[in-house]
Amino acid sequence: MNGPLLTVTHLTARHGLLTAVREMSLTVRAGEVVSLVGANGAGKSTLLRTIAGAHPATAGHIALGGRDVTGMRAYQRVREGIALVPEGRRLFPDLTVEENLLVAAGRSRTTRWDLDRVLAAFPMLRPLLRQRASSLSGGQQQATAIARALLTGPRLLLVDEVSLGLSPAAVADVYASLATLAAEGVTMILVEQDLTRAMSAAGRVVCLREGQMVLAQPADAVTRQQVVDAYFGIR
Ligand code: ATP
Repeated sequence: MNGPLLTVTHLTARHGLLTAVREMSLTVRAGEVVSLVGANGAGKSTLLRTIAGAHPATAGHIALGGRDVTGMRAYQRVREGIALVPEGRRLFPDLTVEENLLVAAGRSRTTRWDLDRVLAAFPMLRPLLRQRASSLSGGQQQATAIARALLTGPRLLLVDEVSLGLSPAAVADVYASLATLAAEGVTMILVEQDLTRAMSAAGRVVCLREGQMVLAQPADAVTRQQVVDAYFGIR
């Protein structure tokens, strides 16, 4: 495939009168990992949800692999290869881990990710397969939610608030699994509040402020202070 995997062009998304994402343009290449950072309310979740079709675009376009998906419903975008791990993970609490995973498996557009391959990336889930999702720790729930998204066979994996509410050990486990996925060439956009994690996990850091992109740099070409300054709008 020539050109970027994801192309977002002049995208605007609103909540009523509030413009949460303002004329944003962003491209992501296949195999790239992008960390999306920014203060509370900067528009990170709205951007991810709009790319996934969980929130409507007011203006602009979203294309995956050169195909315009802007007018598609969320389930159609899953078929096109966009998978969202939403904030809060949204598992089925009364189903087991295995059942939560298999709910997604039927929707796979490719056979690239089967249960065995997903469990190789998330080994912590193997002994938990028969446990109900409601009994899991936060880190186990996040792993299950990411594994479930992978089973849809995505070309682009969007993970909102990767480490929100997780213990440091659980954050380390989830990032170890994300590093495995990155090494396998999975294209990801990660929303992450922890700048150190955001910068170490991704090839590129994108910072939003008030719905606009204020920084987009290779992670190794920018200092933490530059990201902090962009985050708070200090020049
Ligand atoms: P957070 O880290 O707090 O989730 P964020 O960067 O993901 O922040 P968004 O959740 O996208 O930001 O929110 C962007 C703006 O849109 C904020 O001003 C927020 O208050 C507003 N907003 C988000 N969701 C809604 C909603 N459902 N209804 C009304 N306003 C909303």
